[in-house]
Amino acid sequence: MQARVGILGAGQLGRMLALAGYPLGIECVLLDRDERSPGAQVARFKAAALDDAEAAASLAAEVDVVTVEIENVPADVLRAAARHAPVHPPPDAVAAAQDRLAEKELFRSLGIPTTPFVRVDTSHDLDRAHRELGLPLVLKARRMGYDGRGQRIVRNAEELHGAWSALGEVPAIAEAWVDFDRELSLVAVRGANGQRAFYPLSENVHRDGILRISVAPFEDERLQRNAEERVDALMQRLDYRGVLALEFFHANGELLANEMAPRVHNTGHWTIEGAVTSQFENHLRAVLGWPLGDASPRGHAAMVNLLGNPPPLDALLSLPGVHVHLYGKSPRPGRKIGHCTIVDPDRRRLLERLAALTNVIEVSLPNPTPRNP
Ligand code: AMP
Repeated sequence: MQARVGILGAGQLGRMLALAGYPLGIECVLLDRDERSPGAQVARFKAAALDDAEAAASLAAEVDVVTVEIENVPADVLRAAARHAPVHPPPDAVAAAQDRLAEKELFRSLGIPTTPFVRVDTSHDLDRAHRELGLPLVLKARRMGYDGRGQRIVRNAEELHGAWSALGEVPAIAEAWVDFDRELSLVAVRGANGQRAFYPLSENVHRDGILRISVAPFEDERLQRNAEERVDALMQRLDYRGVLALEFFHANGELLANEMAPRVHNTGHWTIEGAVTSQFENHLRAVLGWPLGDASPRGHAAMVNLLGNPPPLDALLSLPGVHVHLYGKSPRPGRKIGHCTIVDPDRRRLLERLAALTNVIEVSLPNPTPRNP
């Protein structure tokens, strides 16, 4: 019998999960509000809001397992689904990733280093954060922030209270500014019986809080081991099944955890062509309790996001060996509408080819980032 996976969310991640399922005979059924969603264009689809517990429960009743492609699905909705089918990753793991304070406290409890942070519920807390963390600091809404939304960099004391007002004075955390050398992430997967696989570290370039470029593997054995140990501790604590991504700042030779994502991750898109088994296939294998696939890289890979108005398709396709992924979204400024990947056995040649690609896409290369906020 064909395996059936219910996916809450039908954005590009749901779309790429569904596409990865077809060769293995996995039928994905996606649920989201908008029938034009990227995932709805390629797989069976049910129209409902992601906070509709009844809709999630009825989806669960017709599939073998339920998973998420977005971390903002309320935990109660996941628990409602869990009464009808197994839900992976577990609702508590998704809930931990929804709250930046809970997430950072979880890291702390496992001995995973982070930048110093202070809980902000009142303007008194804000002044305390200023005193304890110094400036600049980053103020982040605890909930519903992603791709740079819900956060403000505070550079001087005059901006402090205005920044919190701009966030709507919602519960927040203040973080000490990290003058990092680079950003790295680790994508890992845990299956049935604790089986695990780790992709190599990826080096990531963000602008305005949005991922632009990932290059993998970032080859550093000590950091790789270090990152794997931390993600492994998280996965064990959360009794995790599926793909989990952890983003780090690399500063003064060490890794500071920034945030986790209980789902397939943009910094793992390169694995479609650049690894033996993609993160999407491995997530499906994990949630179904199937053996995991090899997460080894096939050489060096670079991924560049397409944001807003893409360059003409011809220009991208004329570059030898460029893999183009379009998500079926209409372009809006800053909106992720697709990505491109290149793979090359040789890192130096990969970076040359990346330069040609970023020239066409008009993003800047990961030269040492000026870190003056
Ligand atoms: P986040 O939503 O926490 O992933 O933040 C988005 C991006 O903002 C990160 O990838 C960093 O480039 C930048 N950023 C976030 N927090 C800090 C920080 N404490 N210090 C320096 N840069 C930060």
